[in-house]
Amino acid sequence: MGRLSRSFHPREVSRLWHEAAMRAPLLCVVALAACASTAPAGRKDSVNDPIVQSGHPVLRQRAADVPPEEIRTPEFQALVARMVAAMRAAPGVGLAAPQLGVPKRVFVVEDPAALQASLTPVERSERERAPLPLRVLVNPTVTPVGDEKVTFWEGCLSVSGYSALVARFREVEVSALDEHGAPFTWRVRGWPARILQHESDHLDGTLYVDRMVSRSFGTTPQVKARFGGQPIAAALEAFAAPR
Ligand SMILES: [Zn+2]
Repeated sequence: MGRLSRSFHPREVSRLWHEAAMRAPLLCVVALAACASTAPAGRKDSVNDPIVQSGHPVLRQRAADVPPEEIRTPEFQALVARMVAAMRAAPGVGLAAPQLGVPKRVFVVEDPAALQASLTPVERSERERAPLPLRVLVNPTVTPVGDEKVTFWEGCLSVSGYSALVARFREVEVSALDEHGAPFTWRVRGWPARILQHESDHLDGTLYVDRMVSRSFGTTPQVKARFGGQPIAAALEAFAAPR
């Protein structure tokens, strides 16, 4: 375990985040058929946790609420630091604790502008993909705003190598505790709303494959070769997916 098991002071966690932010990987995420996939740099000074893959029961159970008094403990802060490091090394735009084998209700999200540089203007605009700063969400509750849904390609670090079309609410409001245990409410639209719904699902044992347009499921290279750079309408038509 070595460095992974040591405790982190909250200030040190902030420092680690800042350092990692300075070398954000050039990639995408939760969904990315049309994203470039540059090899991640990862952390040079530690070994990142492996991301649990689909089939492991920890991905299929309801994760446990985090007692608020636990949030400021060195152990919990260390878990958050491991999650951020693993998300960035993967790279991904979100990671939930069960994906590191820890059944607790916490996830991290981050979608820096650098990850979006490979998208065409049409892709960026269709997806309503805007830079998302690093955030930690503990015991989150995600509520749809309105009933409009949008369908795009989506992938998951725990279903490595595949993508599929998934319909998600276009706008959501999330209430959660932050990394200091302070409550906050956040309303987001477009791609960030998709990320929040995907990560929140992980805490309930749900994977995107439970929600996907199953006929669209394919390896990410196949999806990119066929639909990369095209308006999403082409894929929606090809698979008779909801618009
Ligand atoms: Zn996922």
